[in-house]
This record gives sequence, structure tokens and C-alpha cells, in this order.
Amino acid sequence: MSQSYILPPFHTAESFDKAIEDFRSILGAEHVEIVDSTKLDDQSYHDPPKTHDPFHIIDQDELVASIIIRPGSTEDVQEIVKAANRHRFPLWPVSIGRNFGYGGAAPRVRGSAVVDLGARMNKILELDNKQAFTLLEPGVTYKMLYEEIQRKGYNLWIDVPDLGGGSVLGNATERGVGYTPYGDHFMMHCGMEIVLPNGELIRTGMGSLPDKNQPTGSSNTWQLFPYGFGPYHDGLFTQSNYGIVTKIGMWLMPDPGGYQSYMITFSKDSDLYQAIEIIRPLRLANILQNVPSIRSATLDIAVAAPRSDFSSTGKPLTEEELDAAIKKVDTGIERWNFYGALYGPEPVRKVMWEAIKGAFGTIEGAKFYLPSDLPEKPGSVFHIRDGTLRGVPSTTELNWTNWMPNGGTLFFSPISPVTGEDAVRQYDIAKRRFTEFGFDYIGTFTVGMRELHHIIIAVYDRKNPEEKRRAFEMYKLLVQDCADAGYGEYRTHLALMDQIAGTYNWNGNSIMQLNQTIKDALDPNGIMAPGKSGVWPKQYRDLKK
Ligand code: ADP
Repeated sequence: MSQSYILPPFHTAESFDKAIEDFRSILGAEHVEIVDSTKLDDQSYHDPPKTHDPFHIIDQDELVASIIIRPGSTEDVQEIVKAANRHRFPLWPVSIGRNFGYGGAAPRVRGSAVVDLGARMNKILELDNKQAFTLLEPGVTYKMLYEEIQRKGYNLWIDVPDLGGGSVLGNATERGVGYTPYGDHFMMHCGMEIVLPNGELIRTGMGSLPDKNQPTGSSNTWQLFPYGFGPYHDGLFTQSNYGIVTKIGMWLMPDPGGYQSYMITFSKDSDLYQAIEIIRPLRLANILQNVPSIRSATLDIAVAAPRSDFSSTGKPLTEEELDAAIKKVDTGIERWNFYGALYGPEPVRKVMWEAIKGAFGTIEGAKFYLPSDLPEKPGSVFHIRDGTLRGVPSTTELNWTNWMPNGGTLFFSPISPVTGEDAVRQYDIAKRRFTEFGFDYIGTFTVGMRELHHIIIAVYDRKNPEEKRRAFEMYKLLVQDCADAGYGEYRTHLALMDQIAGTYNWNGNSIMQLNQTIKDALDPNGIMAPGKSGVWPKQYRDLKK
């Protein structure tokens, strides 16, 4: 009988069996599962596979795990990591493993062991109402945290990304974003616990000051002051393969005492330039108090219905079809749609709203809405955003993956200055390639403190190999197009990690040399998430030559 699991690099069936035996003796056989690569199931967002990327852009069984292991404690994680060193077995830690649009739970190296931290390590260790913070294990989702706060009746808000099923810890370590004033998740974390690639355990910041009177065993300022003393390490453990994060502190936003979401619509494609020019000073001055976003009509149309409802050509919507689709979904949207919110007591909100209306009112045809101005109906993005911008987890926006049959998706996310010129240039670069390769441009600009995350989305038919190949080719060209124009991505799908890492090559790629030096020092056996963010252990670098 031929073997149905995928061997990791440098392994034989015998060495693989020995490693499995070791993992099983640590965790118990029921927590070590061998993956049958001939029976992969893409499942769904609500029940994501831990075996592979459900939105495969290359072959379904290309980025696939050999085994899934489920530690139950930090000590288990340490023991697994030590065993992985003994057997030179590549690990790929995930918290929940949704990693929507960036590869799911799939490992970069075929045959790695996916370490499913969230399966059993899913406790809210601390939830402090007075000081507004929490300390979490990897398996705590936004939804779980939100529900626990409601259950306790605390006056705290969380910050959620578009979809609420992901891990709070996983998203922060990936430097993901949400949309309240606490939208930059890494910025709002405070303190980590990490298992290093040799199995050693560290706590960052004030966490390394012991206090035996505290439940955590660390200083009661661990979740209050991020930096501690001496070198500051936390960034090293984000988007990296330098360790497994087993705990994270997050700051939570006290209920601001009032809230009002709004939508501003712009009727012309060319309004993007002026809208962004208006956004910049308002955001810098904190009149835009949260992380707002300005979204293409296509994104909001796709939340409402599949493309086949608007066109039978099988091709991207024409300009006329797009205008007709905007009318047909009838949710108030136009060519570009800006979603923001006001936070604070009524008099504060009133002043802010007047300033915002005054500024955007200079764009001809701009329309201003509060949720009560429009009927709430399925596909009304504004009413979904009303919840998202006050930290209520939802999964409704998943609907846009149905734009195409068997919809798969991959996010392409270059960073842009908050200028009309840059936003339009990025939009043009993307639109040109999307048109050339036969996809609808679907995009959103998420407004950070001083930059835009331009999230660009192609929805492709996962069961159509030709369409996947076309999408992948397009994305590869887009990486280069953006790099040529001076733009780089903030995060990426597994399949583009090496290429994107290669574009961050100032001064002879000196940053990668530093990354590799750290990698070799911390992980001489190359077991921790090899290839993550384009950082390869020495053994694999030698292999590639
Ligand atoms: P989501 O929260 O969307 O379900 P994942 O749990 O899939 O996200 O995590 C996304 C990525 O972040 C993983 O593929 C992995 O590279 C990294 N990651 C997640 N959790 C950890 C962790 N605890 N330690 C180190 N890296 C992690």
C-alpha cells in the first residue's frame, strides 16, 4: 500500500515513524493525527481544515501537513519543540488556523507538523475590567472574547477584523488590523510568552520580572507596560519563525460612552483621489478616530450577491454593468464607499460629525448616511460595518467569496502613503493587471495612522486550475509592479513569501542577512516554521543552492 501522508524534507518513513512515536508519547496518541493527503477537504470558514490551505491557489495538496499535533499546555509545547529538535521535524504553529486569505493553517514546507495550539489552549487567563486588558491563550477567538465580556457585563470593547472567527493572538502576531480606535493589533498588545526554537520559555517586557504573588507568576505590570527593561523583543516574534507565542496581553477599549457609525458614498471612480486627500488631515488630527476604510463598489456588491446575478458573460463587470449592479443591490452604495464611526458622548460626536461632513462635502455628489437612513437588509455592508466598528464579531462579510463559484481568495496587501496620488497609482496598477488577467478588481483601503493598507482581492474558482494559475501569475506580477513603484506588502499568503521578502532588498538584502543570522542562532536545527516570511534555516538554504 502506498503511503498517503507527505514526508517532510530530510525524512524517511522510518525516521518519520520514530518522530510520531515521540510526539505521541508526549501528548497521547489521540492528540497526534496523521494527515491523509489523498483525502483533503476544503471544509468551510466555520470548520476550517488544519491540513492544508482551503483557498489553494496552487495544487490543493501542495501546501499540506503530514501530521497535526494538539498540545494542551505551554509545557506540552516545550516538549514538542524539544522532540522536533531531536527528530529535525519541521513545525508550523497556528492558533486557530483560519488565516483567511493568507494560507489557512497550511505550512510553508510540505509535510510539516501543524501545531494546532488553539485546539486545547483556549483560555482567557485574565480579563481586567478596571485596567482594561486581557491575557489570552492562542485558541481564544474574537467571538469567544466578545462573549465572555458580555457574559461578565464588563464595560469593555474588543477590536475585530472583518471576520470574527480568528484568534486574537494569531492575528496580533501576524500584525493584522481591525476598525475601532484600537485597530492596530500589534500596537495594542502588551506582553508575550514565547517558547523558543530550543524549547526554552521566555516572557517579554515586564513579564520577565517574577512576582510569586501574582496568578501569572510575573509582575502585575506585564500587561500594562510593554517595554520592560533592555532590548525590546516582541516584534521579533511577529510574522516570524523565531518561536511559538503561547500567551499574549491585549489592551481593550473602555466603552467610549457613545457611538455612531456613518457611511459616505462617492459616485465617481475618480473621487478616490480627493477622498484620500481629505482623509489624511482628518486622520492625523484624530477627527477620524478609528481605522476607517474606503471600499470599492465591487467588494460591497459581492457581499450582496454573486457575479452571475449581474452579468452572464463570465467576464469581469463592465463599467455599465457595475453601475447597474450598484443600483440593483440598492444598499446605498456607490463607486467608493467610506465607512467610519464617531466615538464618545453626543456633544463630542456632534462636533466631529460636522467637521467630517464639512470636509467630505466638498466632493461633488458625496452622500452621508447614518444606519437609520437606510433599510437593514441582507447584503447591506453598512449595517455589518456598524457592528464591526464597535467591535462586534461577525462572519457575514464572508459572502463576497461567493462572487465566483467555488470561490477561493488570496489577499494582496501593499502599503501606501495616505495621498490621493499614491492611492490612485496603486488602484491603477491593480486595476490594469486585474483587467489584463480577467478578474474583477475588488479592493479596500484601510486607513492606519499614517498609511493605507490597500487590500486587493481576486476571487477565483478553486475547481478551475486554469483560473487559479492565471490568478497566481497575476499576483506574482503585481508584487513586482508594486516593488517597481516603491510599494511593499505588509503581509502575504504562503505562496508569495519568498518573492515579497526578496523585494525588501535595500543595501544588498541586508535585512534578510540579519533575519538569517537570528534564525541560525535561535534555531540551528531549522525546525521552527521554515520559510515563514521568506526566512529559511541554513539546511534549507543549502538545499536550494
Ligand atoms: P487566525 O487567527 O486567522 O486563525 P492563524 O491561527 O492561522 O490565524 O495564524 C496565522 C499565522 O500566524 C500562522 O500561519 C502562523 O504563521 C502565525 N501564528 C499563529 N499563531 C502563532 C503562535 N502562537 N506562535 C507563532 N506564530 C503563530
